[in-house]
Amino acid sequence: MIDTHTHLFTEEFDNDRYEMVNRAIEAGVTKLFMPNIDVSSLPSLKKMCGEYKGVCYPMIGLHPTEVREDYKSQLDILEKELANNSDYIAIGEVGLDLYWDSTFKDEQIDAFHTQIGWAIDSDLPIIIHSRAASNELYNTLLPYKSTKLSGIFHSFVGDKAEAERLMEFPNFLFGINGVVTFKKSTLPEVLEDIPLSRIVLETDSPYLAPVPYRGKRNESSYIIDIAKKLSLIYDTPLNDISSITDDNALRLFKKVSGVL
Ligand SMILES: [Zn+2]
Repeated sequence: MIDTHTHLFTEEFDNDRYEMVNRAIEAGVTKLFMPNIDVSSLPSLKKMCGEYKGVCYPMIGLHPTEVREDYKSQLDILEKELANNSDYIAIGEVGLDLYWDSTFKDEQIDAFHTQIGWAIDSDLPIIIHSRAASNELYNTLLPYKSTKLSGIFHSFVGDKAEAERLMEFPNFLFGINGVVTFKKSTLPEVLEDIPLSRIVLETDSPYLAPVPYRGKRNESSYIIDIAKKLSLIYDTPLNDISSITDDNALRLFKKVSGVL
């Protein structure tokens, strides 16, 4: 299984990073895709991906919650890093987050457009974080609908109407994480309308641990609990869930599959 979204380079794992990667491998995780946060997180991201070549793969981008007054200088540094380093497999994570704070809404949208441009120019997929910004997300993406832009709607938790609208973007997949295992989650019903060919697995570690670990620190080995839940929802054997979602991910991440 591929964990398409995991922040294992963060300080939450400083004390047991190696053990945790081993637990993930033992649980059947073959690859870990790691979205960046901002300029300050780059050194630890690069260090971990350098130590686990062929297992851990870095992405580059400015997370929407880190877009502030200085976002243009952050983007300049990240853009140079992208140009000088061929290791990055995607632009991420980027997008819009108006849940905690909408002070920098215009700046978030501007940074999003800039990074969509990077994805198109470099032919890399884009990993999109969207929270409390459903309409803004749709409106920002609309001009790119007929471009080759591809990517993942990471941590998708929308309703059926939102799923239908986002499925209009044929080159995009839906990242499903521990939220689907939560007791009151409506995601299982929403997934009835999203074919398995559009789904990838993710943990979003250290956040959003699946049941039975809900509320605790999440880690990539828990991805099995998300796959098991999808096996029930799609009435499909667990092995098929793993292989289909892996294939979906590798179709998108062309640098990992060797196409790019
Ligand atoms: Zn994330």
